[in-house]
Amino acid sequence: MPSYTAPLDDMLFLFEKLRDNKNYNELEKYNEVNLDLAKDILEEAAKINQNLLLPLALAGDENPAKLENGVVRTPPGYKEAYNKYIEDGWISLSCDPKYGGQGMPKTISAFFDEMLSSTSLSFKLYSELTIGAYNCLLHHASDETKDKYLPKMVEGKWSGTMCLTEPVCGTDLGMLKTKAEEQADGTFKISGQKIFITSGDHDLTENIIHLVIARATDSPKGTKGISLFLVPKFIVNEDGSTGTRNGVSTGSVEHKMGIKGSATCVLNFDEATGYLIGTKNRGLNQMFTMMNLERILVGIQGLGISEIAYQNSLAYAKERKQGKTNNTKSTNGADFIIEHADIRKSLLNMKSIIEGERALCFWLSQQTEVSLNHPNEKVKKEASDYVSLMTPVVKSLFTDLAMEITSDAMQIHGGYGFTKDQGIEQLYRDNRITPIYEGTNSVQAADLVSRKLLNKNGNIIGKFLEMIKEETNSKNEKVKIFTKQLNYYLDILSKFTDWIIDKNKIDKDDVSSAANDYLKTLGYVSLAYSWIKILEVSFKDLDSNKKFYIDKINTAQFYFEKILPRAEYHYKSAISGSSNIMKFNFN
Ligand SMILES: Cc1cc2nc3c(=O)[nH]c(=O)nc-3n(C[C@H](O)[C@H](O)[C@H](O)COP(=O)(O)OP(=O)(O)OC[C@H]3O[C@@H](n4cnc5c(N)ncnc54)[C@H](O)[C@@H]3O)c2cc1C
Repeated sequence: MPSYTAPLDDMLFLFEKLRDNKNYNELEKYNEVNLDLAKDILEEAAKINQNLLLPLALAGDENPAKLENGVVRTPPGYKEAYNKYIEDGWISLSCDPKYGGQGMPKTISAFFDEMLSSTSLSFKLYSELTIGAYNCLLHHASDETKDKYLPKMVEGKWSGTMCLTEPVCGTDLGMLKTKAEEQADGTFKISGQKIFITSGDHDLTENIIHLVIARATDSPKGTKGISLFLVPKFIVNEDGSTGTRNGVSTGSVEHKMGIKGSATCVLNFDEATGYLIGTKNRGLNQMFTMMNLERILVGIQGLGISEIAYQNSLAYAKERKQGKTNNTKSTNGADFIIEHADIRKSLLNMKSIIEGERALCFWLSQQTEVSLNHPNEKVKKEASDYVSLMTPVVKSLFTDLAMEITSDAMQIHGGYGFTKDQGIEQLYRDNRITPIYEGTNSVQAADLVSRKLLNKNGNIIGKFLEMIKEETNSKNEKVKIFTKQLNYYLDILSKFTDWIIDKNKIDKDDVSSAANDYLKTLGYVSLAYSWIKILEVSFKDLDSNKKFYIDKINTAQFYFEKILPRAEYHYKSAISGSSNIMKFNFN
């Protein structure tokens, strides 16, 4: 089983040194969330992750969730751990105190999400979708519905799901077939089949609140005829108690290559009672509230899995001896493999990506809070634009890079990485879903280039690039060396953006074939932006914590010289266009 120590030093460094952001500082809501409080929470979070949740990863892999006599059973240990987890209030960390939550900002809860993703992604998913459904209801449901459902969800006694996918539609939800028939009392009868539903059924909670998209019988075809319904597993009585079983049943639980502890279900809806949420035919937009937050969380899943893969690779490289190196310290005829330049490079690849991602994520958490809570509409809108621009980047880049990192982790472990001994292959298998669910990474890239660069507020990417230039315009001569390199890649990104915007008007295949490359270029530049902010602090505060800051400076140097050039490769490959692709005859 892999070992794990929560990276508290890095998390607290970000919280202490990179939190100072004008718009974020103006949120009165979080005035009292200071470093001491963050430290207390994260230290406790580390304990529950390291001690209680980490063993669940192996338990779930060896004893997958299963359907037994109509009941979905979670792996051994899940129920006890879940009860402790909700009893201690972890599920409600970022939820509104009005419904029983603890009201912590995403700048803290995102670190907790990272820890959970490192220790047991399968276990995490049971509560992750609950919080997703909570957020969707918080934004779109009536007060009466919120009062009825949210407290139990925040308490963790009821869980939530997101029911979109059907046998004929995954990416293209406009094709969905699940229908909703309005009844005289204003409720709807929901009929159809949903597949691949995470936590669709399980034995952890008393009730499950499904958020289902369906088409009302009088609604138009396509995405414009989709509405959102709340469909509980057990009907909730007027007094809030759970009543009769609704018409939802579990057809099967999927057998998967990874996240085996998570129950991925086929759900059959047979005239199940559903309640319309928000406005009829606006269901997909409403569901996007849940999907957008989930996409960022999936990016954090990639980050968390990368972190545990890195920690175990580093430890293994320090204990495994093979071969001799030039800088030999060899005893018994061989060096520790960490002495080999190639292994060191793999480790630094991981470290420089992970720490850059964590910093970018911290910034994105701040922007998300500003976009939700700032009193000034203009500021709120600008933050919301940044969040919408960065959501597909974080989802796709972090999860793709987690594939690279977990694969390299196996490589560092040699044959022991491929066998089950060290638990490293499980990280690779568990991560493999993250580039697929919540909209595949290619679809994220398409969304970025076709909808996120420009919108009715204007040139979002232009504003983002301006913001990076302003914030990285350092007075420190040592930082300036890095800024100069960043500016070179900012120019490339600007040229790439112009190319995409031009091609969007004339050649969709050029855009489609370049979308993934564009997302990567933007992503690598955004990580460099985060690194510059880390460098600014590192040079300034060097003497206060020399080892920590020198490591940061060296890691940043590695990032700028070894990773950031990938941004240019993606640009050059993309602008060769699509004729070299589309003319090929596959027959
Ligand atoms: C373990 C697991 C858990 C899941 N959990 C949930 C859940 O809780 N709720 C839920 O509703 N769904 C869930 N899903 C479904 C998941 O979100 C979908 O599998 C995913 O969105 C892809 O849809 P699809 O499988 O139908 O693939 P398709 O849409 O058929 O895509 C197939 C391929 O075509 C590409 N493609 C499709 N359209 C385009 C396009 N326009 N441009 C370029 N490329 C395109 C895709 O990128 C992909 O590579 C889950 C799936 C799994 C496996």
